[in-house]
Amino acid sequence: MSKLILANWKSNPKTLTEAVRLAKGSDAKNVVIAPSHPHLERVRRVLKHARLASQDVSSKDGGPYTGEVSPSQLKNLGVRYVIVGHSERRRLGETDELISKKVKAAFAAGLKVVLCVGENTSTRRKGIAASKRFIAIQLKKDLTGIRKQELGSRNLIVAYEPVWAIGTGKSDKPKDSAQMITHIKKLLTSRFQILDSRVLYGGSVTSKNARSFLSHPEIDGVLVGGASLKVKSFKAIIRS
Ligand code: PEP
Repeated sequence: MSKLILANWKSNPKTLTEAVRLAKGSDAKNVVIAPSHPHLERVRRVLKHARLASQDVSSKDGGPYTGEVSPSQLKNLGVRYVIVGHSERRRLGETDELISKKVKAAFAAGLKVVLCVGENTSTRRKGIAASKRFIAIQLKKDLTGIRKQELGSRNLIVAYEPVWAIGTGKSDKPKDSAQMITHIKKLLTSRFQILDSRVLYGGSVTSKNARSFLSHPEIDGVLVGGASLKVKSFKAIIRS
């Protein structure tokens, strides 16, 4: 399976012109780009190889929900993937319960889900075993009520993103994240009968450390925030 590189632009860049420039420079096979909602349509028109993702999705497929963007709206715009449960959204108050509803709604609209899971600093300080227990509970809650048929390996990608590594410049040790990813894959198989879902690593991936993550056979790709905002560094990650 080829490795996947997912660029999460968050609330950047400021202008459409910059978004188009960044999209042109980042366009490549096995790349998925998640611009902010106002830039989705224009970025889609630029991409020849990369796929389009949304950074979030509503749990409701239309209706009186001011400010929400529905799964069908995204699907009809040409969006293939949605990121769900990013820690920056969890910090804004998103619960596991809401996240599982979003996963369900996204699948129902035919979107692929990139589900973000990850432990915080205090859990990791207790060790890898505690982190593994945390992830097992989080994954179980986030996938509650999702039917097995919907959970095909092609529809679900999990991003292991330890919260303490996101945007901090302190990436995980590749061998530790490989261990966590193996654990996630085992959980997906034993609890949800998903045999070959991709599991990515995310958290302060840069052009300098990308290879050390991507060279692990267990790590199926990387989710890149800050380093995806500069064409030069993102291209170097793609080359890794
Ligand atoms: C992210 O946004 O999920 C992320 C991993 O960000 P960064 O690469 O900046 O740590």
